[in-house]
Amino acid sequence: MTAAKTGEYIYFDHAATTPVLPEVAQVMNKCFLKYFGNASEPHLPGRQAKKILEQSRHEIASVLGASDAEIVFTGSGTESDNMAIFGAAQANRKKGNHIITTSVEHPAVAMPCKMLEKQGFKVTYLPVDRYGMVCPDDLKKAITNKTILVSVMHANNIVGTIQPIEEIGSLLKDKDILFHTDAVQTFCSIKTDVKCLGVDLLSLSGHKIYGPKGVGALYIRKKTRIKPYIFGGGQERGRRSGTENTAGIAGLAKAASIAGKAMGQRAEHVSAMRQYLKKGIIDSIDDVIFNGHPEKRLPGNCNFSFRFVEGEAMVLRLDAAKIAVSSGSACSSSSVKPSHALVAMGLSPQEAYGSLRITLGYENTFGQVDYFLENLERIIKDLRMISPLKKG
Ligand SMILES: *Cc1c(COP(=O)(O)O)cnc(C)c1O
Repeated sequence: MTAAKTGEYIYFDHAATTPVLPEVAQVMNKCFLKYFGNASEPHLPGRQAKKILEQSRHEIASVLGASDAEIVFTGSGTESDNMAIFGAAQANRKKGNHIITTSVEHPAVAMPCKMLEKQGFKVTYLPVDRYGMVCPDDLKKAITNKTILVSVMHANNIVGTIQPIEEIGSLLKDKDILFHTDAVQTFCSIKTDVKCLGVDLLSLSGHKIYGPKGVGALYIRKKTRIKPYIFGGGQERGRRSGTENTAGIAGLAKAASIAGKAMGQRAEHVSAMRQYLKKGIIDSIDDVIFNGHPEKRLPGNCNFSFRFVEGEAMVLRLDAAKIAVSSGSACSSSSVKPSHALVAMGLSPQEAYGSLRITLGYENTFGQVDYFLENLERIIKDLRMISPLKKG
């Protein structure tokens, strides 16, 4: 076990974003400086850009077990989710107006659903259990003859719970209902074979897999009814207009192909650290609640609620000790509301406010976990001493 290097800043917030791999930056740099062409042009620079684009598409398709034509590049995981929800709703409006999703989705799915409700769609938000898991039986009961789309995230970004996507996929198999999954947290972290999952639409993003920000992709199964919602020059076979972000796409593909090969090895190291971290917290700190599913969870996600302290205070104190973690989710940390996912799981507001999300990456070490544990124990003790919430 190597100790944390003295003075280094420790990054434990990989669910928010990941560092860009040097190999990825290198590939992107080459695109910026050398292969700058517009992929729609027939001349040499254009053809070079086109080649990079199609190779990248092939690499992403391979990791997903999809065919190249089923991959559409987008500007982010958020855009992929928006395109899936709005595109499927638009294309199937005549067939029905009912959508089923969950109460723990990322805002990139939840907000488009809210928008659709204003436009006359009916949305069912499935409840989750204590572990953040949806029940396929609830989903089955929610289906009506007006249901056109089901969107269930593959794994939750806050507590890491992995949903029974395969089971839902087979449940929907013979039904005329589109099935979308937000796989931004799982792509390149656990297996995301689209055939095994049984999905029609799958969203992914570059910056959660050691790739660049501002690029994502949407898997669209062959013959899926979906309308484009960005119009212009007809790029991506008319499905998503806009000159392709060659560098970003090449970076995303590089990150995916590296991760695709290293997935098993990474997951083993990361989940060993996570278990060590979990045990460390339970052994050294009282009044804690472990959030999310004990087994069915992302390798690197550890989420705890600490009674009598606030997540934000912990995050700031840990930052001062040179450690980055998150309370709830980045998207909601500027507001005072507790994470909707934690509330949906049945945590009291106080338990939700006291939550801390620690998400490990494969470059982290056991030594860093030790350093984190020492600091956390000290910080919690301090904060509880001054806490007005602490009883007795
Ligand atoms: C990060 C994230 C997104 C958004 O992806 P961006 O590329 O940041 O827009 C969507 N869904 C989940 C589950 C995420 O973790």
